[in-house]
Amino acid sequence: MFVKIASSEIPYYQFPMLEPYSGICKHAVFTRVGGVSEAPFTSLNVRYGIGDPDANVTKNRQIMQLFFEHEFLDNSSRVLISANQTHSDHIAILARGEALPKTNEIDDIDAFVTNRNDILLLIQVADCQPIILLDPVTKTLGMVHNGWRGCIQNILGKTVAAMCDEFGVDAKNIIACIGPTIGPCCHYFTDPVDELPNEFHRYIFDEKQVDFLAAARDQLLAAGVPVSHIEQSNMCTSDHTNEFYSYRRENRLTGRFGIIAGLL
Ligand SMILES: [Zn+2]
Repeated sequence: MFVKIASSEIPYYQFPMLEPYSGICKHAVFTRVGGVSEAPFTSLNVRYGIGDPDANVTKNRQIMQLFFEHEFLDNSSRVLISANQTHSDHIAILARGEALPKTNEIDDIDAFVTNRNDILLLIQVADCQPIILLDPVTKTLGMVHNGWRGCIQNILGKTVAAMCDEFGVDAKNIIACIGPTIGPCCHYFTDPVDELPNEFHRYIFDEKQVDFLAAARDQLLAAGVPVSHIEQSNMCTSDHTNEFYSYRRENRLTGRFGIIAGLL
């Protein structure tokens, strides 16, 4: 079960499957609670360029980062790296010892892979799957923004492959945690047979609904991640708009909640 830490100043969730590795990687799945943005972005929106004033987004990111550093890193300060996510299959490789990207918000990227312990990674979602991939053996971290468009490009499998190719990870050691996302219960398409490639038609049910969680699980298994290493939050964003933003439920004009992780 996905665990809510509600006693803290800003509520967040954690994956129990990562708990044994808390000496290797820290993570927090934030909600929409605790920020400064006003409706319809109330309140901890972390995404720029969607109508929420930049100053609010900057402040929200500062609130999250400072909270994370205080809660998990003894107040030591890190560089927070995020991306202008575009539903692509592009992956940023952030290797130890190399120059950091020129911007803290990398353009046209939807996944990160790193072995650095001097940065924090931020993924922003509303309905799409936020996924943390941790190999505790080589101490390699992957983070993925896995929307349905990214899913049909298998960005998840490609990110696992990048961890293996770039940092010598054995996929069977990876722990994969899928955060709050629109569940199959609420994921309707107008005409999924037309909108999705053939190999995804098996995830269609009741004509209009699609189970992209099953698709993500299958992609992880195909990439070599053991089934016993996969955890899902089982929390549907569309059914929990008091805690999470939902792009579909709230008709586009909505914020994005953030998931932060970093290696120690
Ligand atoms: Zn639902």
